[in-house]
Parts: sequence; structure tokens; C-alpha cells
Amino acid sequence: MLTALINGPEFDPALRGGVLKIPPTHPVYPWSCTAVDCERPRWRRYAMCSVHAEQWQEAEARGASRAQFLQTAQPLPATEMPEAMMCRICPQRPALSLQLVLCFRHRTRWLSHLKRHPGGGEGNFER
Ligand SMILES: [Zn+2]
Ligand SMILES: [Zn+2]
Repeated sequence: MLTALINGPEFDPALRGGVLKIPPTHPVYPWSCTAVDCERPRWRRYAMCSVHAEQWQEAEARGASRAQFLQTAQPLPATEMPEAMMCRICPQRPALSLQLVLCFRHRTRWLSHLKRHPGGGEGNFER
């Protein structure tokens, strides 16, 4: 059913073949960081990449305005990898941790898993 929909003529061709094919400025599904010229994929919660989202949280705590922060933020090139790393559990989300190759949510889950099972491997990791 889903495949039929994707291959149907009504479906936006940009959505075929995975999220990474969508141009960063796609009007309906923009996925790039909202900091000026930053090429990294955004984190949905902040509409910024993980680096800028972290900087923004600090800037916000200091009382900066979001618009001002986005204008002055240092743009970042896309990651060195030809394609942005996506979470290995849910490939539609960008990986926050490039070491673990996990998105924010799964990284959080993985960290709490490690707390509950010190030394435990991935074998009993609940996705
Ligand atoms: Zn960014
Ligand atoms: Zn994930």
C-alpha cells in the first residue's frame, strides 16, 4: 500500500528513495538547520542541527533572541561523510552521536540502558 502510494504519480518525487534526496530547501519538507548557511540536517525539536541546537540552548539561557542567534551562528559544512549519518535504528532521523550512530532519542535510550546494565552489550538493548 505504501509502496503503491510512493510510486504513484501524486507523490512528490523528492520523497522517493529516502529522506536524504530531499533538497535542503524543499518548501514542504525542509530538513536543513535553520542557522544561516548551515548545511547540517536539523533536529526536529529545535529546527537546528545538533551543534547549533546545543549552542542555542546556551544562548537562550543567556537571554539571546532566536533570530539573532541564527544570524550570528557559525555555519557548519555538512558532515565529512558523503551523506549525513542517519540513526541505525530509525533511518529517517539524523544521528546525533556519530560514534554510536544513534539519533537523540535512541542515544538517550542507549545511555539509560547502559546505566541499568553496566557493561551490558547491545544484545539486550530494547529499541
Ligand atoms: Zn547548524
Ligand atoms: Zn533512532
